[in-house]
Amino acid sequence: MITANDLITQIRTYNPDIDGALITRAVEFAKLKHEGQTRASGEPYYTHPVEVAGLLAEMRMDPATIVTAILHDTLEDTKTTFEELKKTFSEEVANLVNGVSKLSRIEGQTVEGKQAENFRKLVLAMSDDIRVLLVKLADRLHNMRTINAIEKVEKRRRIARETIEIYVPLAERIGMHRVKEELEDLSFAVLNPEARDSIAARLLYLRAEGGSDMVKGIIVTLTKLLKEAGIGADINGREKTRYSIWRKMQRKNVAFEQLSDIMAFRILVDSVEQCYHALGIIHSQYPTVPGRFKDYISTPKQNGYRSIHTTVIGPENQRIEIQIRTRDMNAEADLGVAAHWSYKGGQMKADLQDAKKYRWMRELLDLIENDHKPEDFLENTKLELFQDQVYVFTPKGELIEIPTGATPIDFAYAIHSGLGDKCVGAKINGRIAPLNTKLHNGDQVDIITAKNQNPSPTWERFVVTGKAKSHIRRFIRQQQRSEYSTLGKAMLQKVFAMEGYEFTDKAVNNVLDQFKAEEPDDLFSGIGQGNIVARDVFKAIFPGHKSVPSRPGGDITEQNIVNKKPDVKSSKPMPIVGLIPGMAVHFARCCHPLPGDRIVGIVTTGKGVTIHTTDCETLENFADTPERWLDVSWGDGADSPESHIGRLNVTITNTAGALGTLSTVIGKNGGNITNLKITNRSLDFWDMLLDVYVNDTAHLKDIIAALRATPQIASVDRAKGR
Ligand code: MN
Repeated sequence: MITANDLITQIRTYNPDIDGALITRAVEFAKLKHEGQTRASGEPYYTHPVEVAGLLAEMRMDPATIVTAILHDTLEDTKTTFEELKKTFSEEVANLVNGVSKLSRIEGQTVEGKQAENFRKLVLAMSDDIRVLLVKLADRLHNMRTINAIEKVEKRRRIARETIEIYVPLAERIGMHRVKEELEDLSFAVLNPEARDSIAARLLYLRAEGGSDMVKGIIVTLTKLLKEAGIGADINGREKTRYSIWRKMQRKNVAFEQLSDIMAFRILVDSVEQCYHALGIIHSQYPTVPGRFKDYISTPKQNGYRSIHTTVIGPENQRIEIQIRTRDMNAEADLGVAAHWSYKGGQMKADLQDAKKYRWMRELLDLIENDHKPEDFLENTKLELFQDQVYVFTPKGELIEIPTGATPIDFAYAIHSGLGDKCVGAKINGRIAPLNTKLHNGDQVDIITAKNQNPSPTWERFVVTGKAKSHIRRFIRQQQRSEYSTLGKAMLQKVFAMEGYEFTDKAVNNVLDQFKAEEPDDLFSGIGQGNIVARDVFKAIFPGHKSVPSRPGGDITEQNIVNKKPDVKSSKPMPIVGLIPGMAVHFARCCHPLPGDRIVGIVTTGKGVTIHTTDCETLENFADTPERWLDVSWGDGADSPESHIGRLNVTITNTAGALGTLSTVIGKNGGNITNLKITNRSLDFWDMLLDVYVNDTAHLKDIIAALRATPQIASVDRAKGR
């Protein structure tokens, strides 16, 4: 909290003649009038107008504006009258405070769409002195800086929405870039913290990728280049704001891939001549990007902005945006209209009696009235609100918006259904991660695909987006349908063969209608699923045919064929889901995965797939070849009494009978030792590796627990992969 004295000290830095007593009197007046009132933060109310005055002092404003700021809420929120202000201070101040109060009165209404445009016009129309608007913007800035003291989310959001729809465009229109950017970022934080955080995370990522070194390199090179030409320039690299990056990405659907996309370099020199000199040097040294050169020095923007903009393929072979301007222009670009009321060398730059301010107002109103497409203007300033979304990036830096809880599979389908269908793995922020990982704001997701991969039924358990779900289901249905269709066709062919006919597709076409099938496949899959009896189809095709009598040894019936349908359980395949059909599978010897463990498959050329536990250390060897990772899980039947090998590190005491006890305990618990190797023998203890046949993890855990309960066993642990 700043005091009257802080305020005076601040003003003295640019206006030594300031009447300190006037400032003190104004602060005392506000303190007295706002007595008993508090802010949402609990602080005395008068601290707010004093802070607002502080903001205007930072902008080097004239005394009347600063006093107005201190008193800006007295007319509206206290019993103070216009006459009282006029008598105690001045008519000028009373008028200004009155103007701010009028603005405050129209505030707080819902502003939506078209209304926002009208609202802005209203604000401008009511600010008959532009300083009223400056005070209002500073007021809003302080309120936004302290918005988190407001408890109700809805109220915070309403204020932020109003700020971004009304005050940000106004600050922009009068050229107050610094205020505009801060208001934008503060509103963005309230309205869409997820998007803001995700961009912040992306910026961090790019900086960590060595971006800041690149920026330094560019500054050093440019500085040297200009120095050789005798130009003493200040060059800085400035990150674009999070909000402007987000807007750009939304509006143009563009990605930001590298730091140069988010940096603007600014060259500050002493004179206009030097601006063009510097421009000439840069353009002769580096290729320019066409269509990006703008000279706002010879033709200033309507809000008074002056600068040269250009984009070149600069040092480090990076496309960089460069702004060239004088130090004075830079100060004006930050402050905009406010610069006209600021002090320079003890002299006010603008004469307040000058009709100039009215011209400013006219120009501003004109600008807004003649805005060709107010809708566009609105589009660019309105924030869309997504609460339950996270924002993640593609490797190319595109911002993808997906629901909270979404996984890499959802992400893959969100980009392209083909990408989802062929997905075998994912890298999140450069690291291999399970496909069921929940994505967070700012994550960069890289989907790994394989040509022969198909959607896995296990995915359906964890995806959250409708698109992913429906694609996975559709694939499963199609796959089932084609299995049933093959089966049904085989059944029908058998019937034909038994009856001594040759099967043709053509024969089937004639009876499709009878069985309500549109194409032969419908009929075949109907037979395969058991909804249609193959012999009925045959009878329909050959109505007068008499069946051949049954032969000894058993007729081939539909039932027999159905039983021949490839069945997972009958042929004892590996009980693992997510494998590529036809690939050989075996369990890794390093970690001995058991049903119940979380597992991953590694594809080895010529060897098929090796199943490891997800915490197996051997996996580090495959970190660089993500295309070999397969997302697998235990399927049904994995916990059948099929034996798997569990490997244990056991330390037993070197006592008589300890080894016997060990094997007894394991045997009693249904385990079967298949291998035992003593790895270390000391006087008191033996360390050994033990392979035990078990059913699953739970079984192994039981055995471990039983061993731990045995006195001769010093320690037991499951051996991890080496
Ligand atoms: Mn206020």
